[in-house]
Amino acid sequence: MSNSTLSDIVSCLSGYDPNALPVAQAQQIIRDFVVPVRAVEKVALRNALDRVLAQDITSPIDVPQQDNSAMDGFALRGAELDAARPSTLRAVGTVLAGGSFDGAVGPGECVRIMTGAPMPASCDTVVPQEFVQTIDDRVVIPAGAVKAGDNRRLRGEDLQAGKPALSRGRILRPADLGLLASLGTAEVPVQRRLRVAFFSTGDELRSVGEPLDPGCVYDSNRYTLYGMLTRLGCDIIDMGVVKDDPAQLEAAFRSACENADAIITSGGVSVGEAEYTKQMMAQLGDVTFWKIGMRPGRPMAFGRIGSNGKSAYLFGLPGNPVAVMVTFYFFARDALLRMMGAQTAPLPLMRAITQSPIRKKPGRTEYQRGVLTVDEKGARAVRITGSQGSGILRSMSEANCMVVMHHDQGSASVGDEVDVLLFEGLI
Ligand code: AMP
Ligand code: MG
Repeated sequence: MSNSTLSDIVSCLSGYDPNALPVAQAQQIIRDFVVPVRAVEKVALRNALDRVLAQDITSPIDVPQQDNSAMDGFALRGAELDAARPSTLRAVGTVLAGGSFDGAVGPGECVRIMTGAPMPASCDTVVPQEFVQTIDDRVVIPAGAVKAGDNRRLRGEDLQAGKPALSRGRILRPADLGLLASLGTAEVPVQRRLRVAFFSTGDELRSVGEPLDPGCVYDSNRYTLYGMLTRLGCDIIDMGVVKDDPAQLEAAFRSACENADAIITSGGVSVGEAEYTKQMMAQLGDVTFWKIGMRPGRPMAFGRIGSNGKSAYLFGLPGNPVAVMVTFYFFARDALLRMMGAQTAPLPLMRAITQSPIRKKPGRTEYQRGVLTVDEKGARAVRITGSQGSGILRSMSEANCMVVMHHDQGSASVGDEVDVLLFEGLI
């Protein structure tokens, strides 16, 4: 856990105002406060998919182990070929993948070789079989068919013994599993999964399966959070809906603290709420309440709370369903990845031409939900998914990207270029 308190961290920022906090500053504070949970476990190679690699991996072997053929053909000494005239060599043997040719290959000789078969010691070149004519054991190679060194894969050209193969913090993808297998790795050291507890707050919330009383809404945030956390590879603890009642809230926060690395709540952090959620957060730890210069998702609580000697990071997200998703992706996601020990990089934005006018005031960041398409000329175009109210979850469901309207940016007209962030790859 970090030794710095939130006030240590914010005291380094010039012009810090929790009631008008730019997105970039909030992201910076979170980034400075959160430290990785260091706990390693070994898992079988297949189970390492999507997990965070916990140690640097050094290659124990050369891959490939020896020079070998990239083609089916004939292995020969490149120096023997005549660039101006066809060359005729005599095939003195065959080497298959997994086999070896231990004999000597003398002047005027070659060896029939299969893809992946080790190169005979004195050969450095392979002529593909479709280039040659064979008459009994004689192989006729046209002038210029190959150059010395062609079609030979060099020992260690993929990975070299003693050199870095993968670095820690990497989220292992299919190619990485294959790469680890190519080194003969059966077990992989990975970070243990992050445990994230979450609950919804609000007396108006009903859970699916319950009747919807007048004035109430179904709790959708726990389902989007379930989805987002699961995609991120977290172990989740779904604590349900917690009523706006001090005793119930305290019990929920304490239990979450004692069982999880991070806690995510939704609702109860805006002004004009029944105050218990915020009160309880403040009472249990080092928590700051922000009004972030963004839309959707203005109010948010962040910090660390403790109970019985255990502590957990806290993200008190706003209640509105779109605001929950946006604050999760732009604040919690990076922090959780850091806690997981994963290397993180800024999210890749791309430019697209907007087909919708976008009204926007400078001085806050807006995340509008968009549909990105590629027109007949291959240009990227984006349109906004209708009404952008922070309670309209359909705007998120229909979208395939977020249009990011930066802090200092103003409105955009049809035909202007804007930045978009594709959901694919992010979630
Ligand atoms: P709050 O931040 O608690 O004032 O909530 C803002 C809005 O989001 C209110 O209209 C709530 O009813 C709604 N809301 C809060 N939590 C949830 C939830 N878990 N699922 C759906 N809507 C919610
Ligand atoms: Mg509420």
